[in-house]
Amino acid sequence: MKIKELKKHLYEVFPLSLQESYDNCGMTIGNEEKEITNVLVTLDVTEEVIDEAIESDCNVIVAHHPIVFRGLKSFRGDNYVERCVIKAIRHDIAIFAMHTNVDNSENGTSFELAKVLELQDLSPLDTEGDKAVGCIGTYNGTQDFTTHLKEKLKLKVVKCAGTPGKKSEKSLRIGIVTGSGSEFYGTAKSRECDVFVSADFKYHQYFDAIDGPMIMDIGHYESEIFAKDVFFREISLIFSKNELTLHKVYRSGVVTNPVRFL
Ligand SMILES: [Zn+2]
Repeated sequence: MKIKELKKHLYEVFPLSLQESYDNCGMTIGNEEKEITNVLVTLDVTEEVIDEAIESDCNVIVAHHPIVFRGLKSFRGDNYVERCVIKAIRHDIAIFAMHTNVDNSENGTSFELAKVLELQDLSPLDTEGDKAVGCIGTYNGTQDFTTHLKEKLKLKVVKCAGTPGKKSEKSLRIGIVTGSGSEFYGTAKSRECDVFVSADFKYHQYFDAIDGPMIMDIGHYESEIFAKDVFFREISLIFSKNELTLHKVYRSGVVTNPVRFL
């Protein structure tokens, strides 16, 4: 299969029309006419991820976050973005970004996280035209939700504000927007969520939880790491539907999270 055919199939699942105007989804680097060897899926592109692609004979990297977001004015290798671009071109590796077109899809990261958290009755938190922003679901588990979330996501700590209110902890309405979703807190409140799970809140935004849904700021990386599973599943399906047994899909094993808790 040629790279451009993989792109076409992926756009059928995650149409480019769903991407936000500020975004830079699509084939950033590479010749689409080339045949695919294998594919590496990742949340972020770093030099280590490109090394991993080289080692595992992948000439396509499908990433959630675009490696090039703003225009580059030089290609000297002064920063990691320039070095990644140079390395990918040098090794003939295509880099394909699927970002807000995945975020704004019911097959995307927010719904994936809701499934990992075993929420039920899933629907979009909000819709804008064809875009499905975030996800809303019900938690009916026996454990309290915070413990449940930490177990499922293997988190030691979660940055929280507020409480789920007076409702029973056993049936909670959970709003989710993966990545930087703090701007959708008001939507979660108007949709009567008990808890809003997202990332990248600013200090003063946490005060809103005094009068609204509990905020669980689980971290940007932690909320979107499931993009790898989404890509892995969709690309494996494309290959199996087309009876392509020689192409393999690998999940990157590199922890690309730049944030550390010391
Ligand atoms: Zn993100």
